[in-house]
Amino acid sequence: MIDMTDDYKHKGARKKLIELLGTKGITDARVLSAMLAIPRHYFFSSTFHSHAYEDKAFPIGEGQTISQPYTVAYQTQVLHVVKGDKILEIGTGSGYQAAVLMQMGAKLYSIERHEALSKKASLLLQKMGFAPILKCGDGTKGWMEKAPFDKIIVTAGAPVVPETLVSQLKVGGVMVIPVGDDKRQKMLSIIKTGENTTETIELDYFAFVPLIGEKGWKK
Ligand code: SAM
Repeated sequence: MIDMTDDYKHKGARKKLIELLGTKGITDARVLSAMLAIPRHYFFSSTFHSHAYEDKAFPIGEGQTISQPYTVAYQTQVLHVVKGDKILEIGTGSGYQAAVLMQMGAKLYSIERHEALSKKASLLLQKMGFAPILKCGDGTKGWMEKAPFDKIIVTAGAPVVPETLVSQLKVGGVMVIPVGDDKRQKMLSIIKTGENTTETIELDYFAFVPLIGEKGWKK
């Protein structure tokens, strides 16, 4: 049973969290208002609702985590989401990042390698009234049948930029991806400037769970 009550305590805690994100440098009002609208505690089991509005990552099962709210806001801000954008997410996890992107008007495709997480996220996002297109599999290979995408967001730490993903971006499209070792990764914003050209902007360091797959870390 998913507890979908969103009372004044949740709303108050959420508002405080969003204010905190503003002080940490998240300036895109559309990102902040989408995160204010999405009850993050829906993505937690009811035992842990009290942790939902801390600016922290939290375990979601299968050894994975729901990303820290600041990280979700940061990656979303880098993407410059426009209503109607066709976005591919790698690492559905809890579904929270997907919900934020859909709240901003994105048509969302998302791949998760753990079937149990994918199924749980699918059920919750549908109950919330969203219609994401989800699949279970290795996201490092992208989603050829659905490409090209306006934006791609990778929510797990990659050892290198998977070229397959770049090839599935539209010209003018943007990919946000954390790349580094198993301890820390640098956030990259990769803009596809032409069929065979890209421009990469190096941003801040983060610590993600590993991107595991053919073009990622090996199991
Ligand atoms: N976006 C998620 C959220 O909002 O909860 C964050 C999820 S967590 C930080 C990263 C997710 O990436 C994990 O659920 C993990 O199983 C998944 N993952 C890792 N490698 C993957 C791959 N090759 N393809 C798809 N998902 C992958």
